[in-house]
This record gives sequence, C-alpha cells and structure tokens, in this order.
Amino acid sequence: MKLDATRRTRSEMQAYLAEALAGCYEGPPTLSPIAGGRTAAERQLNAFDARRYSSRNHVTRGHVSRLSPYIRHGVLTLREVRDAVFARFGRAGESIYKFVFELAWHQFWQEVYAALGDDIYTDIEAYKFPPPIWEETLPEDVARAKTGLVCIDESLSELYTTGYMHNHARLWVAAYLIHHRKVHWTVGERLFFAHLLDGNPPPNALSWQWVASTFSSKPYYFNRQNVEKYTDGEWCRRCPARCPFDRTYDELAVELFGQA
Ligand SMILES: Cc1cc2nc3c(=O)[nH]c(=O)nc-3n(C[C@H](O)[C@H](O)[C@H](O)COP(=O)(O)OP(=O)(O)OC[C@H]3O[C@@H](n4cnc5c(N)ncnc54)[C@H](O)[C@@H]3O)c2cc1C
Repeated sequence: MKLDATRRTRSEMQAYLAEALAGCYEGPPTLSPIAGGRTAAERQLNAFDARRYSSRNHVTRGHVSRLSPYIRHGVLTLREVRDAVFARFGRAGESIYKFVFELAWHQFWQEVYAALGDDIYTDIEAYKFPPPIWEETLPEDVARAKTGLVCIDESLSELYTTGYMHNHARLWVAAYLIHHRKVHWTVGERLFFAHLLDGNPPPNALSWQWVASTFSSKPYYFNRQNVEKYTDGEWCRRCPARCPFDRTYDELAVELFGQA
C-alpha cells in the first residue's frame, strides 16, 4: 500500500498503520497522541507555566514543557521558546533560570556535535570504572517493556506508545540498561532514537555517554529512594519485583562497578 499521510484523517491513518504493521507487534499499533505542526506547538508553548518548572525532576507530576518534539524538528526555535517564556513570566526566579539552563544544554549538545561530528557515536573518553563485556543486543524484555520493574516498564511503555519519555525516566532506563544489564550504550541510543519523537543525535548519544561515564566524570546510577521520591512512592508500591535498586549508593557502586 502506498503511504500518503498528507490527505489522511487520524482514524484513516490508524487504519492504515493497523494494516501495514499487522503481525509486526503485539496488539494494534497506535498513533502518538502528540500532534505535530505549528498550531500544536504554539498551543503547547502557551499552556506551559514556566514558574512551576522547579518541579521538573518529578516524573509523575513534574511540570515540564513537552516542547522537545517541536524544538527537535525546527517547529519552534530555542530563542523563540526562551523569549516567549521571558515575555510571559519575566526573567527572575529559580524556575525560569532552570528552564533557560535546559534550553542551553540543548544548544551545548548541538555545538559538541558540530565539533565532533559522528564521533559522538563512539566513546569520547574512557569509562570511569572497569567496563564489563558489553551485550550488543537489546534484551527481549526491554524491547517489550516487560522487565517486571514498574519504573522501567512504565517509562518504556510511555516511550513506545507516545514517543515521549520524561528526562528523569530516560536517565533511569539508560542506567538500568547500561549498568545493570551490561548492554552497550549504543544499543540504548538506537532504541531511543527509533522511538522518541524528539530523537536527536547530539542530546541522545551524548546523554547516553553521560550515563555510561564516557562523557562525564562518573557513571550515573540511581537507587530505589530516588524512584520513590520522584514518583511519590507510587511506582514502587505497585512493583512486584525484588528491587535491584533497593540499596545505598555505596552498595550499588560496589555491586555495579566493583568499587565504592
Ligand atoms: C538518555 C537520554 C536521551 C535523551 N535523548 C534526547 C533526544 O533524543 N532529544 C532531545 O531533545 N533530548 C533528549 N534528552 C534530553 C531530555 O531528556 C529531553 O530534551 C527532555 O526530556 C524533553 O522533554 P521536555 O520538552 O518536556 O523538556 P523540558 O524539561 O521542558 O525542557 C525544555 C527543552 O529544553 C531542552 N532540554 C531539556 N533537558 C535537556 C537535556 N538534558 N539535554 C538537552 N536538552 C534538554 C529540550 O529541547 C526541551 O524540549 C535525552 C536525555 C537522556 C537522559
């Protein structure tokens, strides 16, 4: 069947996908609820209250802008977003500062890419711990969002069904895949790039390297307390698994990296 998305309604597109992808996935394929285009981008920008951004790290009720797909595809520029926030909320305050700081991170990754080109896909620095023999394929349970760990499966399910994942959840999934499952960061990088509507080589590859420690001074990892704090304990209460994150940071460092 020829794909002509331009003249199709949403339900026609859904039907087209169901037919084209029949048998490829478990259950019917879904369209992301995130709408494209300038009108949707402006709506999202106008709905964003930057004064609440200091709650950003909270995964289930943190106030983030969800503007990344529009920024990624050039529907909104970083400057435009910054200026809209300044015009509506002024320049003062921790939340505004934090938000503009994150926009600057985006710019920074772009500039690293301009300098390094496709070298962002290879280790920029040595690992800051003795690296294991890395797995080079994506584990099946991760591909299906069925690891049995609610914090990982909820995050992956959101990615697979909507094309979005909260920044903190991205960090948890990346740390889990790299440090607990010993999967090479490039495998996770490809997974995210394939599914994220904001999938973008510089922030994606360089964030995976940041978690792995090949573009930072230490590996990123997290413990159960961190998940509890940023989901109000809800995800952990629902989790039936024996939690591999239920340790102190020192215990995890010894377990994962062989050193405190
Ligand atoms: C493993 C991993 C992979 C990532 N892959 C991508 C990616 O492919 N594309 C992408 O745009 N971002 C990526 N990020 C960065 C960040 O997670 C997303 O930009 C952010 O979650 C997008 O959601 P938002 O628009 O609600 O962000 P908000 O918190 O509302 O931030 C506003 C904007 O600032 C920029 N921004 C925010 N945080 C970051 C950050 N840490 N690094 C760079 N820019 C940031 C984005 O353009 C974002 O839209 C990744 C982070 C991690 C840890």
